[in-house]
Amino acid sequence: MKILVTGGSGFIGSNFVKTALKHNHRVINVDALTYASNTATLKSLADNQNYYFYHLDIRDKASVEQIVKAHFPDAIVHLAAESHVDRSISGPNEFIQTNIVGTFNLLEIALSYWKNLKNEKPFRFIHVSTDEVFGSLPIDPSVKFHEKSSYKPNSPYSATKASSDHLVRAWNRTYGMPTIITNCSNNYGPYQFPEKLIPVVILNAIKKQQIPIYGTGQNIRDWLYVGDHANALLKILEDGVTGENYNIGGNSEISNIDLVKHICAILDDKVPLTSGSYSDLITFIDDRPGHDLRYAINANKLMTELNWSPSESLVSGLKKTVEWYLNNECWWKPLLKSHPRN
Ligand code: NAD
Repeated sequence: MKILVTGGSGFIGSNFVKTALKHNHRVINVDALTYASNTATLKSLADNQNYYFYHLDIRDKASVEQIVKAHFPDAIVHLAAESHVDRSISGPNEFIQTNIVGTFNLLEIALSYWKNLKNEKPFRFIHVSTDEVFGSLPIDPSVKFHEKSSYKPNSPYSATKASSDHLVRAWNRTYGMPTIITNCSNNYGPYQFPEKLIPVVILNAIKKQQIPIYGTGQNIRDWLYVGDHANALLKILEDGVTGENYNIGGNSEISNIDLVKHICAILDDKVPLTSGSYSDLITFIDDRPGHDLRYAINANKLMTELNWSPSESLVSGLKKTVEWYLNNECWWKPLLKSHPRN
């Protein structure tokens, strides 16, 4: 399959690009290379005959349209987005522009492309979204987000993702465009930009700096290993039913404080301090405004209908992730220099 990926130089996108190439697909990556990307992540693909890269903003309609026409893709997998909740609180404009206007542009391009295909070959548009569009859950293990959960976004980030989901749904219902929406829980794993919780914890601990935790750390997240997410997206791309939504989750709920303590325990084991524990560095800071209490995904539809299941448990995935950051200083150190606030 020829897959045009947007945001393929970001955290999830780069993992998806590598997975798709391993499955012998051809990948065309369109990415604006914002602060959240790192060209080092995909350096190893420079000579790969099945990989094409275009440094483009998805809001640049004419240029993206040209790439689509030139490569004649079988699918578009749309991951490009502004993705950090804290940044959306301090500066929502970029989120409106990329996540809403950018998605609208891409839908317009895809619609005209798909119409011109005139059933010459199948085509599908996969929109990668978040469970944060569903808002917040109470602490009750019997309640989880499912495909029919109502949309109640609470942050500027999740509001822009919800808007883009609605646009994608409308392009399917109104124009018949073959789209699929995926909503996944928090991802973690190698190559995540060091502003998100897990890399912040690992890198602050290694540098023996305070490990900040919002509020009391009781907020619960449901973690998904990024490699499992990439496999799920590929499965949905190949076998998912157009017009449908699929929730993707790793069935790994944990409170932020327990997660951080677990990461500290892994580090205590792998790179012990001369005295004390990395958990001594934990510092509680003022809570994030509008901080959602709990996210949890019911991924039964994906598991039963498409036979997908996560291969990593939180324990095995966290161990792999900590080891990756310990062994790949050359990837993250330049990012800390160019983004000193992290
Ligand atoms: P990321 O921030 O790591 O990467 C985003 C990528 O998009 C970057 O390479 C960036 O350069 C690119 N990009 C941003 N604006 C662009 C534009 N205008 N034009 C072209 N490229 C642009 O994000 P991520 O964590 O990899 O998330 C990927 C997708 O998955 C996003 O849509 C996000 O909303 C969704 N998602 C992420 C998570 C998570 O835990 N990381 C969870 C659920 C959903």
